Amino acid sequence: MDILNPATGDLLTTVPAATPADVDTAVARATRAQRSWAAAAPATRARHLHRFAALVDDHVEELARLEVDEAGHTLGNARWEAGNVRDLLTYSAGGAERLNGRQIPAPGGLDITIHEPLGVIGVIAPWNFPMPIAAWATAPALAAGNAVILKPAETTPLTALRLAELALESGLPEHLFQVLPGEGPVAGNALVEHPGVAKIVFTGSTRVGKQIMAACADRVKRVTLELGGKSPNIVFADADLAAAVAATPMSFLDNSGQDCCARTRILVQRSVHDRFLELLAPLVEAVVVGDPYDEKTQMGPLISQAQLDRVRTYVDEDAPGIRGTAPEGPGFWFPPTVLTGLDPGHPAAVEEIFGPVAVVLPFEDEADAVRLANATEYGLSGSIWTRDVGRALRVSQAVRAGNLSVNSHSSVRYWTPFGGYRQSGLGRELGPDALTAFTETKNVFISTEA
Ligand code: NAD
Repeated sequence: MDILNPATGDLLTTVPAATPADVDTAVARATRAQRSWAAAAPATRARHLHRFAALVDDHVEELARLEVDEAGHTLGNARWEAGNVRDLLTYSAGGAERLNGRQIPAPGGLDITIHEPLGVIGVIAPWNFPMPIAAWATAPALAAGNAVILKPAETTPLTALRLAELALESGLPEHLFQVLPGEGPVAGNALVEHPGVAKIVFTGSTRVGKQIMAACADRVKRVTLELGGKSPNIVFADADLAAAVAATPMSFLDNSGQDCCARTRILVQRSVHDRFLELLAPLVEAVVVGDPYDEKTQMGPLISQAQLDRVRTYVDEDAPGIRGTAPEGPGFWFPPTVLTGLDPGHPAAVEEIFGPVAVVLPFEDEADAVRLANATEYGLSGSIWTRDVGRALRVSQAVRAGNLSVNSHSSVRYWTPFGGYRQSGLGRELGPDALTAFTETKNVFISTEA
């Protein structure tokens, strides 16, 4: 597979694509490695993961630069992403020794629950955050006593491959964490269909997620789906308008809008709508788009020509709105764009574009805001800007999404649960229960009467 630098369009390197036979071999090896890993003391597993985390920490800069090269992320973001992998490994290592079952009162005996690792976990990752998303599942799955086979996206396998090398170098047992770059319908599908893989964690588009869920259903295979989003940013008239406006540009432009949690539907109460746009325009126009290695850059390129073509289909050149600037090319560039005056049912207002494009829609009152917020098939994230704590809570309860923030755009923290409602997914990752999601719960009743 050709791996391109999205900022220039240049060929970085080529990577072999795994075949179904490679998947078979990987699963057989992972199955063997997992048996002794699961039998190891939790403290031993924790020690290994701490060593892996320490080695990632030593290589943050190298990993970050690899992410800039293959994914076009700004250097600052990429450094944060590599640090996120380290922190997640450390957090998960801590969980290994706290994966406790329960004791449940039972007449005539004692009832206990035991968490047993599932076995081999298949992780299928997207290209938009190659490093953190690979680690979201990998770190807790390993900590809970599983083996992991990770298939990175076709366009971004390099950081995942480097992480696998670092895992080995840190002393993690061989074949416990394997990375198989390859095509989704070939290597990805072989993982999904393999009887030796106990669970699939898929992060990607809703379209592919549905196919994977159907294939897993056939085998009653466990599946977690982290899918698309079209998240609202709801600004009430009683909000601190300056703060809400200041936080808006990067809430949909971070990672060039290729973020499942991007706040791409900006819903503004009508009484402050025009003022909001007046304040927003200069901020969007001033966003620095360009060389991801330049520390001043706020937004880099899109991942590929295909993604650029897709984004263009949603934006009419003469549509009203706010436009920033972007390099002409080579590379896959699109300017920061805010569309105004659209019908709320317009495709750009309800479909996931996955580029630096947001729409602004006015609303009348709280009920209207909630109705508009819920008027997509997705339910991943959202923000609510208000000074009224009662309203913040009412709207948080009424919006059908897994991750909401009040007076903030923060969505993903490794210590809190993350996942979607409706077409945004199934299951939760991260947070205090992350390890449990990679276990079966066994109940054992011990009679005291025999
Ligand atoms: P995608 O669905 O095209 O691909 C995701 C992964 O699935 C890739 O590794 C791909 O090779 C693999 N794949 C494709 N077809 C497959 C098949 N038939 N069987 C098995 N694997 C297959 O998604 P993408 O374009 O890489 O990523 C963008 C999407 O990911 C967006 O929709 C975005 O919202 C979503 N996403 C969701 C989250 C979340 O946590 N909810 C996070 C990041 C991205």
